[in-house]
Amino acid sequence: MRQNLVAGNWKMNMTYQDGLALVSEITNMVADETTGPAVQVVICPPAPYLAAIGRQLPPNSQFHLGAQNCHQKESGAYTGEVSAPMLVSVGCEYVILGHSERRQYFREDDELLSQKLKAALAAGLKPIFCVGESLDTREMNETNDFIGKQLQHGLFHLSNEEFDQVIIAYEPIWAIGTGKTATSEQAQEVHAFIREQIARAYDAQAALNTTILYGGSANAQNARELFAQPDVDGGLIGGASLKSRDFTEIIKSF
Ligand code: PGA
Repeated sequence: MRQNLVAGNWKMNMTYQDGLALVSEITNMVADETTGPAVQVVICPPAPYLAAIGRQLPPNSQFHLGAQNCHQKESGAYTGEVSAPMLVSVGCEYVILGHSERRQYFREDDELLSQKLKAALAAGLKPIFCVGESLDTREMNETNDFIGKQLQHGLFHLSNEEFDQVIIAYEPIWAIGTGKTATSEQAQEVHAFIREQIARAYDAQAALNTTILYGGSANAQNARELFAQPDVDGGLIGGASLKSRDFTEIIKSF
């Protein structure tokens, strides 16, 4: 079901001790300060901290645990990898898939991402599936075409029931970690386009029900304007999720 949601993607940052301290600051601040509309918060720390951070999140609350990646197989001889059922067994409810850093540095293509999506869904995880164009693509006016293909090849092979579980994150590559946020108009335009594509691939109800997040240099200053756009349901936050004050402000921005 469509909901206000903020996910913090820590990427490969924070020590274990700093991570625990950050989460306790965030949960305390949010408990003390938030009174506005309901918002779900997903914390996505590095894999070794998942179990411990999951235990630190208040149970049955707005806080949820997410992973940054999973392997496409359930188990087996895949040294160094972490499977979707393993993530579930330590309390994860969400997993980020298709992040542009994984697509670029780890050569994750549509075919592999399709398998990962299936594995995540089979284990009962909710995928946060990322799409987004490069600066070149945007400058050539090919943004919609590019994102349409990412959705078509990476995501729209799912059944209606599977697709129901998916959250989409629009993350323009040129905005990630650069301090260059998409304007709220640019974000809204692409989010509306994504919703249209969902309506075509599934139906109008599915389009209305899908949670679509914006990611890419979202911060405490610009979150309110971004989240006020009719098709922006929240954010996937990198850098600003590493600071308790900033992340809490973002959570309060609906
Ligand atoms: P950023 O990262 O907020 O640091 O730009 C967002 C992301 O990559 O998920």
